[in-house]
Amino acid sequence: MDELLIQDPEVGRAVTLEIERQTGKLELIASENFVSAAVRQAQGSVLTHKYAEGYPGKRYYGGCEFVDIAENLAIDRAKAIFGCGYANVQPHSGSQANMGVYFACLKPGDTILGMNLSHGGHLTHGSPVNFSGRLYNVVFYGVKKETGYIDYDEVAALAREHKPALIVAGASAYPRTIDFARFRAIADEVGAKLMVDMAHIAGLVATGLHPTPIGQAHFTTTTTHKTLRGPRGGMILSDEDNAKTLNSQIFPGIQGGPLMHVIAAKAVAFGEALRPTFADYQKQVVKNAVTLAGCLTAAGYDLVSGGTDNHLMLMDLTSKDITGKDAEHALDKAGMTANKNTVPFETRSPFVTSGVRLGTPALTTRGMKEAEMEKVAAWIVDALANVNNETRLAAISREVEVFARQFPLFAW
Ligand code: PLP
Repeated sequence: MDELLIQDPEVGRAVTLEIERQTGKLELIASENFVSAAVRQAQGSVLTHKYAEGYPGKRYYGGCEFVDIAENLAIDRAKAIFGCGYANVQPHSGSQANMGVYFACLKPGDTILGMNLSHGGHLTHGSPVNFSGRLYNVVFYGVKKETGYIDYDEVAALAREHKPALIVAGASAYPRTIDFARFRAIADEVGAKLMVDMAHIAGLVATGLHPTPIGQAHFTTTTTHKTLRGPRGGMILSDEDNAKTLNSQIFPGIQGGPLMHVIAAKAVAFGEALRPTFADYQKQVVKNAVTLAGCLTAAGYDLVSGGTDNHLMLMDLTSKDITGKDAEHALDKAGMTANKNTVPFETRSPFVTSGVRLGTPALTTRGMKEAEMEKVAAWIVDALANVNNETRLAAISREVEVFARQFPLFAW
C-alpha cells in the first residue's frame, strides 16, 4: 500500500477509503466474502506478469514451468474438495464458466430451461439482457407462490413440453436446499443435460452442508469468491470424459491468456478449503444465517420461503410498504451493506424491488457468531423502522462502527 500511495495517490486513496469502508461497516451482501492475506498475496504476485495460453504442460508460451505448478495445484485441490475427475480453473468469472459450458453443449437457438431471475436465478441462466437469453431459446421455471420453494412439478412439466437441451439448476437468491437428484431425474426423462451453477453454495457443498451436484450434474460451475472464500473468478467441474471439449471452449473458445496470479490465489484458497477449520467456518455461516433469519422473522418481517437452509435470506418488504431500494439506502446509512433484490412474483422494477438479500459469509469470516447476529438483526430492524429518520440512521451507524471494529478484517 505504501508504494501505491506514493506512486499514485489518487488510486491509493480509493483503496484506503475502501479498506475503511470494509472495516467500519457490516458486509451483508450474500455473494461477498473476505479472503486471507495468503490469497491476497498470491493474487498480488508477479504471476500477473505471465502469459500462459493453453493448459499445464501444453502452453503456447515459454517459461510456464512455475505457473504450471500453481495451476496444477489449483486443479488437484479443486478435484479433491469436490470429488470430481475434472476441473478447469481458468474461467475469469462465474459468467465465463457458464458460457464455457453452454458453448460446449449447445448451439445458438437451442432451448435451455433455467430459473427465473426474479425468482432467484442468475442473469446467465437465460435473462434476455444477457448473452444466454440472446443466443438461446429460454424457458423459465420458478418457485411456488405459497411456499417460496422451487416448483419441481413445474420444472418437470416445462421440461416435457419444451424438451430443452440443457436444464440449469442453481441460483443467486434462493435460501433453500436444491434437490439436484430431482433435477437430474427430470433431465434424464427428457434427454437433457444438467448444469448446476453452485456459485453461491460452493463452500457449503465443499463441506457437506448442502448436497453435492457432483454425480448428478453433467457440468457444475461455480464462482470462487462467494462462500468458497477465494479470489474473484470462476471454475468448471465435470468428468474426465468432458475435459477436451470444456477445455477448448474456455481456451481458445472464449478466453485468451489465463490470469495466472488469480489461479495461484485460487490454489491457495482451495488449500484453505481442504483444512478442517473451513468446515467449522461453513457450519457457522449457516448457524449465523438461521439465527439472523429467526430474529428478523420474530420482529415481524417476511422472509421468502419463511427462512433459510443456507447462507442467505431474502426479506420481502411488501407488507411493510418499504421498497428494496429505500431499504438498501437506509441500511447503508446505518453502516450495513446489503443489496436490493427482486422477490418472486415481483411487482416493482429491478431498480426499485420489494426485497433485500442478506447473507452471513463475510460477517462470519470476521469471527461473528449467533450472539452478534442478534445484534445485527436488531440494527437492521431499527434501521428499517426509521428509513426516513436521518438522525436515527446516523446514530445506528456510529454504534455499528464501534462494534464492527472489534472484528478485524485482516486477522487471517
Ligand atoms: N452464477 C451465480 C449463481 C451467481 O450468483 C453469479 C454471481 O453473482 C454468477 C454466476 C456470476 O459470477 P460473476 O459475477 O463472477 O460473473
